[in-house]
Amino acid sequence: MTRQKLTVLGATGSIGVSTLDVVARHPDRYEVIALTGNSRVEVLLEQCLQHRPRYAVVGHADAVAGLTERLRSAGLSTAVLAGPAALEQVAALPEVDMVMAAIVGAAGLQPTLAAVRQGKRVLLANKEVLVMAGALFMAEVRKYGATLLPIDSEHNAIFQSLPAGYAGEPAGAGVSHILLTASGGPFLGTPLERLRNVTPAEACAHPNWTMGRKISVDSATLMNKGLEVIEAHWLFNLPSEQIEVVIHPQSVIHSLVQYVDGSVLAELGNPDMRTPIAYAMAWPERIAAGVAPLDLPAIAKLSFERPDLLRFPCLALAFRALRDGANAATVLNAANEVAVAAFLAGRLPFLAIAEIIAATLDAVPVRPMADLPAILAEDANARAVATELLARRSA
Ligand code: NAD
Ligand code: MG
Repeated sequence: MTRQKLTVLGATGSIGVSTLDVVARHPDRYEVIALTGNSRVEVLLEQCLQHRPRYAVVGHADAVAGLTERLRSAGLSTAVLAGPAALEQVAALPEVDMVMAAIVGAAGLQPTLAAVRQGKRVLLANKEVLVMAGALFMAEVRKYGATLLPIDSEHNAIFQSLPAGYAGEPAGAGVSHILLTASGGPFLGTPLERLRNVTPAEACAHPNWTMGRKISVDSATLMNKGLEVIEAHWLFNLPSEQIEVVIHPQSVIHSLVQYVDGSVLAELGNPDMRTPIAYAMAWPERIAAGVAPLDLPAIAKLSFERPDLLRFPCLALAFRALRDGANAATVLNAANEVAVAAFLAGRLPFLAIAEIIAATLDAVPVRPMADLPAILAEDANARAVATELLARRSA
């Protein structure tokens, strides 16, 4: 069989590493063409030595000469490039069949769009892309005939639990609503009073998943689930009234679809991102992912509860942004990125993350965004507003 040729955007991150783990299990099926990383050049070097890509992209031009030199001395002719234009270039290469979009945050938007515009199979982990630019992104997917497959475990589970070819026709397929499960993060049972002074290290210690720092904080505030509600809205073409969130601390049921006849279909498994990654890479086939089989008697109990919107206001803010529409989710995403970065840098208390996002949403009027330049302008403006609110807070 001819091997599928792959670009991994964000190869050095948590999803990138899991992707390359799946690739390494199937050298007969996949060939790595390009790998990208931002600042972890040592990790990127090791990945290049193992996967021998034609291109490697780093964040800064300063790192190009050093990495090139070390690749040459190992006998590799990998071309080393730098910066945002190079990310778009390797996402759009004519020889590439599929692109794993695993950059974190708004920085992933344009390279992911570049892959979409070449009609590639796009494996989407970078949920911020859909939160920031969902309408435009989905329109481009349709226009260019790209194959969009969700990597986020909840959306991958829903994709697996929907009728084949489901395109979001509200009642036609008999779908009543979807249920997104949430682990509740490291602070599920933490009293409000204690949440005031939790640290970045505590916020990043997720009970079930090992992930990058930004999504770990998002999981601790429940903003991750909020972003996923918006992501589900765009992927499955469902209004907010048909999307529910249920807390399920064991993370065994990855999400569910409720049908009008009362049936509920779900996808279960151990919490390991290699499952959705392998599913999307091989779809519609299935391949081994290195994930241990589910041992239900060992797990013994699955439990569920409603989210507490008082302790976790970020989830309500995301529903508000989805209902407001237009630029609101773009503003939400930008303010969240600014606030989470400040929290991780020790410059903002945990509970103030939601305050900064709410104040940014209040400060920026809801207004339509016509095109990509308008989206990027809304993103930049919301970052400036949130940064100003941060500065005023600490003054
Ligand atoms: P991570 O922080 O571990 O990795 C992020 C990657 O993006 C790294 O390769 C980094 O070099 C690259 N990157 C960061 N900023 C960049 C920039 N400005 N320009 C170019 N590259 C840049 O994050 P992660 O946990 O792997 O998450 C990646 C994405 O996948 C996020 O959008 C996250 O929400 C989503 N996701 C992650 C998980 C998970 O289990 N980790 C699950 C579901 C969805
Ligand atoms: Mg998820």
